[in-house]
Amino acid sequence: MLAPTSQPEFAIEARGLDKTYRAQGKGKPTHALKSIDLAVPRGSFFGLLGPNGAGKSTFINILGGLVVKSGGSASIWGHDIDADPMNARGAIGIVPQELNMDPFFTPGEALEIQAGYYGVPKRERRTEEILNAVGLWDKRDAYARTLSGGMKRRLLVAKAMVHGPPVLVLDEPTAGVDVDLRRQLWDYVRSLHASGVTIVLTTHYLEEAQALCDTIAIINHGKLIACEPTHKLISRLDQKTLVVTPQTPIALPFTGFEDVIFAMRTTGAFALTYRTGEHSVEEMLDRIRAAGVTIKDLSIEEPDLEDIFVELTA
Ligand code: ADP
Repeated sequence: MLAPTSQPEFAIEARGLDKTYRAQGKGKPTHALKSIDLAVPRGSFFGLLGPNGAGKSTFINILGGLVVKSGGSASIWGHDIDADPMNARGAIGIVPQELNMDPFFTPGEALEIQAGYYGVPKRERRTEEILNAVGLWDKRDAYARTLSGGMKRRLLVAKAMVHGPPVLVLDEPTAGVDVDLRRQLWDYVRSLHASGVTIVLTTHYLEEAQALCDTIAIINHGKLIACEPTHKLISRLDQKTLVVTPQTPIALPFTGFEDVIFAMRTTGAFALTYRTGEHSVEEMLDRIRAAGVTIKDLSIEEPDLEDIFVELTA
């Protein structure tokens, strides 16, 4: 690992980052990133979360120099991507989403070529160490086309680390990776993080981000709608919705539930959304019965990523 020469406060910093893709044919241009301000603290395990099409890859690809931004600025490890592209590029390793790689190179060769591309001198190369770390040393002489999907994914992680970047970005890394290999991948990524590498993970799985990341940013339709410590974000979600179908229609207004969110459903059911830290199902049921309602049916709805979006964009 190359020791970072200086220690910036932020591993990645974007200010007003904007991207509009030109229209294809008769289509409309796509405003993929809308003036994003985002700072990834040095040393964090950072989750960039959002549904498909939110703009995550666009953000990552601007940092990697694959997409040209339309406005704003970005720096990696303190190096501006426009003013100092060489150092910016050298400070980041990106594991792309697609598994495209040259089928005729072996993992050993692929790493040597990649190291050469980054100008890493032969004596400083760590091909064996990196291949061992991702569990591919045994496969160092196998053709890439003979590797399984999980092995290819790990080879991509290995390639992203040849120049010892202080920042590693994984773009949707677990697509098509089975459970065992996923665990192995995360073990390696966690060990990199423990050694001081800042990790940025893009995913559309809240659970994955929740399990791994200390900080989560959420983008939706090209806009940043949240960026905060994971526990804080999740604490916004300590809610449940109790949906009750009454035996006979309830009389409105339905009073006595001003401390929770009350909503009628088109089916005649009513929904009570409450904070689990403040109320329990037991208490809600007691109160519903005390209000004279005979319960015909009930269900409980848990919050999901969509609910965070609603909550955050409300
Ligand atoms: P995500 O990675 O969150 O799924 P993307 O950054 O890939 O989102 O896409 C954001 C938006 O930009 C989407 O509407 C997508 O269709 C559009 N987009 C992405 N790449 C291109 C491109 N090369 N040309 C035109 N539109 C694109």
